[in-house]
Amino acid sequence: MADYDVIIAGGGLAGTISAQSISYYSNQNLKILVIDRSPEFLPGRKSLAGWVCGDACSKEAVDFMSERIKVNWTKPEIEHDVKGVMAFSPDKKTSIPFDGDGFMLNRTKLPEIQNERCKKMGIEFEFEMNITGLIYDDQQVVGVQGIDNKTKQPFKKTSKIVIDATGVTSMLRNGLKNSTKVEKRIDRRDLESTGRYIMYFDQGQKELSEFDPDYCIIHLDQDIAPGGYGWVFPKGDNKVNIGLGVEKTFLDKRNKRLGKKDNVESLMKEYLHRNVAIKNAKLSEDPEDINNNSGIFQVSVRRQNDCMVSAGYMMVGDSAWMPKPIDAGGIGPAIIAATILGKNVAEALEANDVSEANLWKYNLDFIKEYGYKTAGLELFRRLVQQMSNDQISYGMKHFLGNMDVESISKGEHPDFTGLGKIGMIIRGALNQTVAKGLKFTSTENQWLVEHYNNYPKEPQGFGEWNKSLLQRLEAAFAKIEVFND
Ligand SMILES: Cc1cc2nc3c(=O)[nH]c(=O)nc-3n(C[C@H](O)[C@H](O)[C@H](O)COP(=O)(O)OP(=O)(O)OC[C@H]3O[C@@H](n4cnc5c(N)ncnc54)[C@H](O)[C@@H]3O)c2cc1C
Repeated sequence: MADYDVIIAGGGLAGTISAQSISYYSNQNLKILVIDRSPEFLPGRKSLAGWVCGDACSKEAVDFMSERIKVNWTKPEIEHDVKGVMAFSPDKKTSIPFDGDGFMLNRTKLPEIQNERCKKMGIEFEFEMNITGLIYDDQQVVGVQGIDNKTKQPFKKTSKIVIDATGVTSMLRNGLKNSTKVEKRIDRRDLESTGRYIMYFDQGQKELSEFDPDYCIIHLDQDIAPGGYGWVFPKGDNKVNIGLGVEKTFLDKRNKRLGKKDNVESLMKEYLHRNVAIKNAKLSEDPEDINNNSGIFQVSVRRQNDCMVSAGYMMVGDSAWMPKPIDAGGIGPAIIAATILGKNVAEALEANDVSEANLWKYNLDFIKEYGYKTAGLELFRRLVQQMSNDQISYGMKHFLGNMDVESISKGEHPDFTGLGKIGMIIRGALNQTVAKGLKFTSTENQWLVEHYNNYPKEPQGFGEWNKSLLQRLEAAFAKIEVFND
């Protein structure tokens, strides 16, 4: 007999929502344990650096969860309301709104409240337990093992199914032994190194492209945040989450180009100091921020893992590389996936079948709701990373029509297949390259979305499906890499 029906490895955002969702869909009939390495009084902490995040998420994703599993988020876990995200071109002449109404969360309060809610549903917790690997019975995952940090003794807990919600650095995924379909390792270039401060400040110049209490601002700029972007997200009229993300190879290129030796930390400081709307900024010492006011962590910007289940094992959130490839927003997809996963798990346990084949539906359900668009967005992100500031500014100003803005606002790849039609004047060879690139990623995106719509209904078809996906993507990546040469 297993100790539990379900073990959730990692009690962060994705882990606690998964626990609630499983409990909801099983009418609280299952024995669920959440295990986290953080101490009980610092729940959901990602790493020693804190709960490092931009803290922004769309209302749409939260509603998706609330409507289905009846969990409502309010204050104080929601710290501030926003009307959307506004992305500025490097020359600041163009801004595109996306994502619509949203929330700025307090990431330290959220897990405290989530855990209270979970406990009321009968979900159990173990803290200060560092999970190092899975336990197998032949080819079936049947539990987790690791070190109890309180006693320094090894521990083992068994369950019918393990949900891996341990975040981007997941050791469970890296060491997974019962699947050739699940990808174990991420390409270094699909990771952004990101950091941010949570600060109070005095208002400087009134400049809405630098701070806007109603909008999350994103600055695209290859000098300020090479291969990523800078952000100024409001947490109040004089409180901000300000930070940036970079990709290392683009940072190295930028440093070489400018003759500098910057790293994420020095870029963050520079980005803060150049902001004319933010003066006398001080790290927040509010009790809920004191352990979380500055820090650096990594986030993935690729499509979700090509396969997210194996026998007795499922992945959710950052462990499955779910953050959206163009903006690294991982909270929305984690909420959506965790909500979906609850139903899949409840059904599998009801049927007493936690084989790979019976958990497979989770892959399909997530793709249908969200995952169909991520490979195209990954390609789009790679293209934008290759562009110069002038090219990004030109592209945003001249090539984005209302329809494109609308699709971007829904998180879809904009359709640039009509670019370069007769009568359209594109000045300059470099800008023609941008047009060609956008047209190319749009065409590829159409193929990719179609391919994801044909994701195999059963594990047997995966090999062939995955092979043609990888072939197509590798060819496209190679083309994009030399795009500006
Ligand atoms: C700087 C930065 C800014 C970001 N900004 C945004 C943003 O504005 N909006 C947005 O939507 N997304 C943003 N993201 C992404 C977002 O933070 C993540 O997508 C989200 O936190 C994912 O939640 P998760 O539960 O999957 O993983 P995590 O939040 O990483 O939680 C993992 C949990 O597992 C525990 N754990 C890990 N390993 C073990 C182990 N071995 N044993 C036991 N427990 C373990 C951890 O302690 C933690 O509690 C940002 C990320 C970064 C780094």
